[in-house]
Amino acid sequence: MSFANTLRCRECGRHYPLEPMYVCEFCFGPLEVMYDYEGLRKHLSRRRIETGPLTIWRYRDLLPVDGEPVDIGAGFTPLLPAPRLGKALGLKRLYIKNDCVNPTWSFKDRVVSVAATKAREFSFRTLACASTGNLANSVAAHAARAGLEALVFIPADLEQGKIVGSAIYGPTLVAVQGSYDDVNRLCSELAERYPWAFVNINIRPYYAEGSKTLGYEVCEQLGWRIPDHCIVPVASGSLFTKIYKGMKELAWLGLVEWRRPRMSAAQALGCSPVVEAWERRSYDIRPQRPNTIAKSLAIGNPADGYYALRVINETGGYGVAVTDEEIIEGIKLLAETEGIFSETAGGVVVASLKRLATQGLISREETVVAFITGAGLKTQEAVVEALAAPVLIEPTIASFEEAMAQRQKALSTSRR
Ligand SMILES: *Cc1c(COP(=O)(O)O)cnc(C)c1O
Ligand SMILES: [Zn+2]
Repeated sequence: MSFANTLRCRECGRHYPLEPMYVCEFCFGPLEVMYDYEGLRKHLSRRRIETGPLTIWRYRDLLPVDGEPVDIGAGFTPLLPAPRLGKALGLKRLYIKNDCVNPTWSFKDRVVSVAATKAREFSFRTLACASTGNLANSVAAHAARAGLEALVFIPADLEQGKIVGSAIYGPTLVAVQGSYDDVNRLCSELAERYPWAFVNINIRPYYAEGSKTLGYEVCEQLGWRIPDHCIVPVASGSLFTKIYKGMKELAWLGLVEWRRPRMSAAQALGCSPVVEAWERRSYDIRPQRPNTIAKSLAIGNPADGYYALRVINETGGYGVAVTDEEIIEGIKLLAETEGIFSETAGGVVVASLKRLATQGLISREETVVAFITGAGLKTQEAVVEALAAPVLIEPTIASFEEAMAQRQKALSTSRR
């Protein structure tokens, strides 16, 4: 049996049983999973976690599930020291949490593995979602694994890599002519009408808990320590708030010593409703119409935006919004310094990190973790024009040497 015991309204504090519901019947506030922390404190130890599987399921006691996990291997991704990127930015203790290497190449496998497990427990037969792209891939894959029907809604203008990366698993893939916010509104209406498990709508409280595992892993991988500063990409704001919740829980349970990590939110300037509100020192988010290459983060009306703002302010973090040009530069910088090819969301994080470092808002000695949440092969459109084309030759030594000489000449004139 799990240690989760109720759903609680984040606004009025009313409690509900652990059912497939997501808003408070009294005040329409969002619901969050609560746990028996006293019981957990007695039961859980570092050792118990360390001997668990090398997936998110090593933290199973901290997740709201009873049944057999729907598991395709999400989580326990590398936390890599990033000395070359750190040197470029003047940071001595920089780490990359590389969530590109999940089974469907984004952090969404963490949340969907939990949501799919819960959907099966609730006896749903169809797993569904409103997606900006990565969620679609992960829902389609986990539904295949679980033997559930998959019904996936995406904005019609998505990158090819994300369409193929969903279609391959055989879901019903619905492309909606509109923005993500249109897709999400439509799906909220469908969730009222049909008996489907929309992972990020009616199963959302359970889904969201999956993101806590990023916080747990980073602390465990740092030798059971909370880092000084986290740079996290923000779409709906759920991931951002749950990384922080995960770290707080470890401290409550006595598994790490409490210290407040600065939580900084990274968005694309073309869709930055959370950062814009933060800059106005307001909690009142003004919805935006997204216009950015960072499509995985293009949520103009973020469901957890208000709670993300609370976390930024509570922890002394920052909000940063970067241009599409900076995003492309960020993707290239991470690839060229650390050998990690991230999608646009990773470019947003690296560009934001660079901005904070340049402005002196991160000190050289801080332990900084940059969360790289999705892989670059899915968003090739964003960078293809910014990259050098291959050198084309005949299969002869003469042709090769001529091409190299020409390349040398081109390089030296471009340097002059
Ligand atoms: C969905 C997503 C995010 C942000 O998720 P939210 O929880 O909605 O803020 C970040 N990075 C990538 C690559 C994503 O796909
Ligand atoms: Zn309420």
